[in-house]
Amino acid sequence: MKYSSCFAKTFKTPPSDSDSANAKFLVQAGFVDQTMAGVYTWLPFGLAVLRKVEQIVREEMNALGALEIMMPSLQPKEFWEATNRWDTVDILFKLHSQTDKEYALGASHEEIVTPLALKFLKSYKDLPFATYQINTKFRDELRAKSGVLRGREFRMKDMYSFHTSQEDLSAFYQKTLEAYVRAYNRCGLNVKVVEASGGIFTKNPSHEFQALTPAGEDVILACGKCEFGQNSEVATLKEGDACPKCGGVLSTVKGIEVGNIFDLGTKYSDAFDLNFVDENGDRKRVLMGCYGIGTSRLVGSIVEANHDDRGMIWPKSVAPFQVHLITLNSKDETVRENIMGTADDLVRDLEAQGIEVLWDDREDVAPGAKFADADLIGAPLRILISEKSLKEESVEWKERISAEGRLVKFVDVVEEIGEFVKV
Ligand SMILES: [Zn+2]
Repeated sequence: MKYSSCFAKTFKTPPSDSDSANAKFLVQAGFVDQTMAGVYTWLPFGLAVLRKVEQIVREEMNALGALEIMMPSLQPKEFWEATNRWDTVDILFKLHSQTDKEYALGASHEEIVTPLALKFLKSYKDLPFATYQINTKFRDELRAKSGVLRGREFRMKDMYSFHTSQEDLSAFYQKTLEAYVRAYNRCGLNVKVVEASGGIFTKNPSHEFQALTPAGEDVILACGKCEFGQNSEVATLKEGDACPKCGGVLSTVKGIEVGNIFDLGTKYSDAFDLNFVDENGDRKRVLMGCYGIGTSRLVGSIVEANHDDRGMIWPKSVAPFQVHLITLNSKDETVRENIMGTADDLVRDLEAQGIEVLWDDREDVAPGAKFADADLIGAPLRILISEKSLKEESVEWKERISAEGRLVKFVDVVEEIGEFVKV
């Protein structure tokens, strides 16, 4: 893609009201635009990252055998009354229709998925199963803050599982916990798994996943060797203690919650009378679990954990593009044509290999501003073609994470980039 043809470009300065790295850099770099507090438009580069994150999450859920569906955001009041949550969930958006009916805007989908299961589920032979969606959620937060971390409208993957026994539910819960850790690691995040109280959802067991970053708002005790963590507010352990899982040393770190999983027990199957007939012909309650990852929040968390004072540093797996190609203008017409022709060939060769390239082809922008934009946007690799590099029959190669660049010969560059982008 040529940067000159992208309408959503960088701003010289960050938004004046940014309260976090993700709010600052995602807006300044033209990845998202704040429509109003807690509500964002996802622009081309931001949407590219969001889609990659969601695809990683989707692959991990599919690997668990869960089937993807899409449920409505507009939900009937009666279902929320059936679970006694219409009046008790304070972050629920409620709409009043001109027909005098009332609706909820989906903050969660137990109220939809449980009656849905009721229509298909008859006997133990229909169990277990799991289904999920990646969809937009709404929460009437009193204070939206921290960019895309805490919004009123956001993207979320929510999965629900249905079981005949606690043993089966617990086994699936554990498998999902491991799939979550894999999904976060693939997104370039180091996470700890923290036992949590269920909050508004349930008093049954639940876990939250904390992405480690100094910008995190939660303080946790985390093991240096394995995934174990414990919320410091309810900690039974202290800094320096041995990890109960592996014996490693526990230390205090900061994290951002990037997901949670809940053993729901029969809370929702009680509300909707969701039963199955077992092998002996007896009717029994279905056991449920639910599993959430805020995918737009995950994008924000990746920025919080991967940036410096100049901008974002995208992990290769979720970068909007792998290569940020910069061409510098020349006053000499022949040299200028040579630079642009070389860049054109390189882009074609890379794209033929499926490598995504942003080409900053703008001719009226100074080199310093182009370099600043490349650092801000944060693609893993910057490739520069200039009069100087042409003389060496080379491009200048600089990785976002390193301070120094080096020259790579034209004849080698496509192959070297091909090696570099392998995650
Ligand atoms: Zn440990």
